[in-house]
Amino acid sequence: MAVMSSCRPALCVTEEEEPPGRSPTLGMLDFGAGSGILPAAEETPLVDFRPARRPRGSGRARAFRRAFFPDVRDSEWNDWRWQIRNRIQSLDALERILSLSDEERDILAHGGGMLPFGLTPYYASLVYTALPGHPLRRSVVPTMHELVRSPGEADDPLGEDGHSPVPGLVHRYPDRVLLLVTGFCSTYCRYCTRSRVVGHGHTGPDDAHLAAALDYIRRTPRIRDVLVSGGDPLTLSDERLEWLLGQLRQIPHVEIVRLGTKVPTVLPQRVTPQLCRMLRRYHPLFMSLHFIHPDECTPETTEACTRLADAGIPLGSQTVLLRGVNDDVEVMKELMHRLLLMRVRPYYLYQCDPISGSSHFRTPVSKGLEIIQGLRGHTSGYAVPSFVIDAPGGGGKIPLQPDYVVGREGDDLLLRNYEGRIFRYPDPLD
Ligand SMILES: *Cc1c(COP(=O)(O)O)cnc(C)c1O
Repeated sequence: MAVMSSCRPALCVTEEEEPPGRSPTLGMLDFGAGSGILPAAEETPLVDFRPARRPRGSGRARAFRRAFFPDVRDSEWNDWRWQIRNRIQSLDALERILSLSDEERDILAHGGGMLPFGLTPYYASLVYTALPGHPLRRSVVPTMHELVRSPGEADDPLGEDGHSPVPGLVHRYPDRVLLLVTGFCSTYCRYCTRSRVVGHGHTGPDDAHLAAALDYIRRTPRIRDVLVSGGDPLTLSDERLEWLLGQLRQIPHVEIVRLGTKVPTVLPQRVTPQLCRMLRRYHPLFMSLHFIHPDECTPETTEACTRLADAGIPLGSQTVLLRGVNDDVEVMKELMHRLLLMRVRPYYLYQCDPISGSSHFRTPVSKGLEIIQGLRGHTSGYAVPSFVIDAPGGGGKIPLQPDYVVGREGDDLLLRNYEGRIFRYPDPLD
């Protein structure tokens, strides 16, 4: 993807505040082992990763703040720019939060894999003191497994680069496009499908490339739906985002705009009342939010989703099926229920893309079918996402369903219901 070398500083928070190569830190505080702030490993309470139905993560989050940011005021902690500036990005910083396994330490000690490492203090507070198998920890802390390349894996398995009429724009389906507006994320998911383009010091396409992408949309009247993604588009400043939405809204054939983001999950502080006031001027605007586990549904994230929903933005979720994270009917059902409580409608469940170094995250396809079968009929239809495989090679999303058609008997179609009982539907062949 394109390099965002000329991103205007006044409009681009990430470049302004994150000069390339700057060594990231846990901030200005000294909380090293000798400081008395860092709890000794033995004293660190290890919290079960599936506690009862109390508000998720809150005790852990409070302990994290007490330990690492005791003097940071709420106004700073709740400021999304502070969260971005103080991301955890180094082995040193991470070692202070978690006791690392050899597999985790070794990859960072060797300079990491393809995708950079980084997470917000907020998301770090959700994994503080967690054990290596903790689902959220697995999703953001790299391991040596990322360096293992398995058969069938590729850096660009979806063939996005081959469907790019201009850099930063993927035109795969007839009436809609994917517009990649930044390569930056506040927190990097280890299973990222776009590891090849995100987080390499570029914050997105430069103005010339973005102008070329907008121009392509302008002169392609069959495009009625623009999906803005990245990187994470909500890491752009309000001004930059508003400029982009304004450009898209000036194109008469663009009917809907969608934003694909994980910000409400990893940086909920970004969803300010001002942002929501701005977004609501660009309706019809939809959002696809990325969630992988019920522990992500915290009070902060709930507030962010509530603000977005109150701004009239229909919220859908996208979840990647991940081994050891959410490959379980009960975990997935709880996630879907919590999403609905936050007014987010489950949209897609993705089979994990065969991105290079992803084999430790991938499950058999049958696991996804088992999960859908465990949801459909057993809970609200609104809680059941579509299970899809994004076809390697660029075929687009292909839906998969458990097989509910058992066969035929004469003029009857034989159908299996959610309980496994067989029913007949009269369906004469003519
Ligand atoms: C997922 C995707 C879309 C949007 O697909 P929907 O099924 O409409 O949500 C559009 N373009 C590309 C390249 C995609 O990967």
